[in-house]
Amino acid sequence: MWKKAAKTVGLSALRGAGLFQMAGRSDRRRNRLLILCYHGLSLRDEHEWLGGLFIPPALFRERMALLRRASANVLPLGEALQRLRDGSLPERSVAITFDDGFYDFHVHAVPVLREFGFPATLYLTTHYCQYRLPIVNLAIEYVLWKSGRETVGPLPELGIESEVAVTTYDGRQVVKQAMLRFSEQHGIDTVGRNDLVAKLAEAVGVEYQPIVDSRILQIMNPEEVAATAATAGIDIELHTHRHRTPRNHELFLREIRDNAAAITEMTGRKPTHFCYPSGDYAAEFLPWLRECGVESATTCELALARPGSDPLLLPRLLDDCNVTGLDFESYLYGVR
Ligand SMILES: [Zn+2]
Repeated sequence: MWKKAAKTVGLSALRGAGLFQMAGRSDRRRNRLLILCYHGLSLRDEHEWLGGLFIPPALFRERMALLRRASANVLPLGEALQRLRDGSLPERSVAITFDDGFYDFHVHAVPVLREFGFPATLYLTTHYCQYRLPIVNLAIEYVLWKSGRETVGPLPELGIESEVAVTTYDGRQVVKQAMLRFSEQHGIDTVGRNDLVAKLAEAVGVEYQPIVDSRILQIMNPEEVAATAATAGIDIELHTHRHRTPRNHELFLREIRDNAAAITEMTGRKPTHFCYPSGDYAAEFLPWLRECGVESATTCELALARPGSDPLLLPRLLDDCNVTGLDFESYLYGVR
């Protein structure tokens, strides 16, 4: 706590003394690229539940305004990486990326990006494009949070064998894992898994249909993906088909190829940039990605990309509700 407060005071003092601006004009910063990572922009109250994944649309707009005030050079990812290699990046260069492809990207992010004239890369996971349903593992957690219940279960028909305390994030994970294991064991498909979440919602007194109708936690459908891809400056790229990174060569390649085929079908463009789902990467993935013709891959490691960064292990700043404006600026100007 004290350490954090001291850091904040220190950064504020540096900013007050004009050192942020000075650092922002330095050669050190000029040769680095800040890649921003976002996930969802809330349609309802998602950021109150999971502020590490969802932020209010107003906060996103604030960040974009901050980039403009700082005269940041927001570049398309492909161009930014080319110029990082060439050593020709402009001052305070930034690339904006979004993971997953939630419906809220279409609703909230695209208009703001257009207004500011900023390009962005969207890493799209494609399995859920065909379903007008929330992503099951997120829906389970959201329903439990929404219920305000202290405990859940036993509900053996959902795979929950005992009473579980669900006031904490960890407790909700226990229920989620039990339900996913149950679905796996019984070969339950995506629609069936959503029926299980509906039953869980009923058991804990949460109305599920309004959640489905609100389209929170849902991935864009093919028409929305196509409309997004047709927006100038928006690039749709790889994030695996089922949001997973199997350690098996064949299965891993299948994830990339299914994902690429679905994206190409919806956008008419072949994707070549990749983002590791859940930031999960391993050394063996690198040759597999090259085999698929992937040019770059981003992680969730926190840093600015340098000319010597491995193009298949590019760090990013995961910007979420826990990142203060001061933190954001300190990365933008390259103070940290
Ligand atoms: Zn993801």
